[in-house]
Parts: sequence; C-alpha cells; structure tokens
Amino acid sequence: MKKLFEPYAYVNSIFDITPEMLKKNGIYGLILDIDNTLVATNVKEAGEKVYRYIKDLKDSRIKTVIVSNGRKHRVEEFCKPLEIEYIYKAYKPLGRGFDKAIRIMDLSRDQVAVIGDQLFTDVLGGNLKGIRPILIKPIDPDEPIFVRIKRIFEKPFLKKKEYKDKL
Ligand SMILES: [Mg+2]
Repeated sequence: MKKLFEPYAYVNSIFDITPEMLKKNGIYGLILDIDNTLVATNVKEAGEKVYRYIKDLKDSRIKTVIVSNGRKHRVEEFCKPLEIEYIYKAYKPLGRGFDKAIRIMDLSRDQVAVIGDQLFTDVLGGNLKGIRPILIKPIDPDEPIFVRIKRIFEKPFLKKKEYKDKL
C-alpha cells in the first residue's frame, strides 16, 4: 500500500532532468503534468524555459505527452503552441489518460516515466499503471484551496524525503 505513494525519484525541478539522465534510466517517453510542474498554476502560457525544455526532449528523441486534469481550454491553450500531444481532463490518478499516452508514444510502460508535483494524482496514478513516477517540488506554493488540502495529506508521506538535482 505504502509503495503506491513511493516515487521512483524525488527531483527539485523538472528542468534538472536532462535527456541523458532519462536515457541512462532507460526512459524514452515522458508523461508530463502542467500545473506546478512546468509552470505555476496561474500561468497560462509556456515561457521560454518550457519551450527550450520541450525542444531539447524532442531533439533527443524523448517522446512527450501532456496529461493534465485541467480543463480543455487551459490545456489546449498551453499545449498547442508547444506542438505537443495532450490529454485534458485526465482524472488522474484513475482515468485512462496514462494508457492513452502510452499508446500515443508507442512505448512499453517500463520505458516511460510520469513527472508531476502531486502524490495523490501523478505518483499514485503512475504506480497504479506500472509507470515510474518522478515527483518534483511544486513551482509555486500559492495553490487553489483544494490542492492545499491535499498537500496536508501528502505531508506524512514526504517526511524526511530528500529532493535531488538529478535523476
Ligand atoms: Mg500539478
């Protein structure tokens, strides 16, 4: 049971994770969260940093799909300019978003990792589907109230956990 909440790795920021590190870990596809993983929740567009990161992944032949619980408008507005595949209203941790993403990438589960900031959506969802979850620190602590409530329940699981700058 406890294992379902155990990520494969704790990393400070998604931008610390390089294509080389991924390949070393046998990871050739990424399922990415948006809110508080790539940008703060209130940021509508991907900035320069995200563009460069996604391009770097593409150039290194790491496949990427955005899987977000966000609404259609939020997710589309963010992803379309990035020219990246996306799934909105994914209902992580339970929905079929991760299965769809795996099919889009045409990889096996053990070649894919999910990167996100939430234990009860990204990490639990990944573990339930046999996809390695990488937990990163949320970008901005100013979050919607329902997320802040979830953070209270995350705390006991994250006690004494050390976040690193690499995978
Ligand atoms: Mg998030």
